[in-house]
Amino acid sequence: MERKGNLSIGVLRVRRDAKVKELANAKPMIEGSLCKVGTRCGNPNCRCARGEKHTAHILTRKIAGKTKTNYVPVGMLEEVQAWVDEHRRVKGLMKKISRLNEQILRAHVPTSRAVARNRDLASRTRAKCTGPCSGTTFPDSSSG
Ligand SMILES: [Zn+2]
Repeated sequence: MERKGNLSIGVLRVRRDAKVKELANAKPMIEGSLCKVGTRCGNPNCRCARGEKHTAHILTRKIAGKTKTNYVPVGMLEEVQAWVDEHRRVKGLMKKISRLNEQILRAHVPTSRAVARNRDLASRTRAKCTGPCSGTTFPDSSSG
């Protein structure tokens, strides 16, 4: 017979497995955030030298407090944006899977506790039986 606790674990497992399947369908991804920045090309005759900077896209990522920057070519902008979005989606999925597994762990506690309690009870009952029962001297009906 299935307990209520087991049933909810089953539901949690189904939900988790659905997320894992989504994760398995992951597309290329990249960690970081896409930013638009103003740059100067270095040509002293260019408009950027007068303050009208060019627009560039960079991908930044923090490593141990330091920001790592990658230049994103304009031709790859859409693709890189898709990578960034996918990374965010996968990260979210991993978080959800982790939370569901935490719930599964917690849901398991009452069941395992019950099992431990039963085992403990069984051993105590046995101890009770072997103790007093073996030490008990039956009244000798032949005396008197
Ligand atoms: Zn320029």
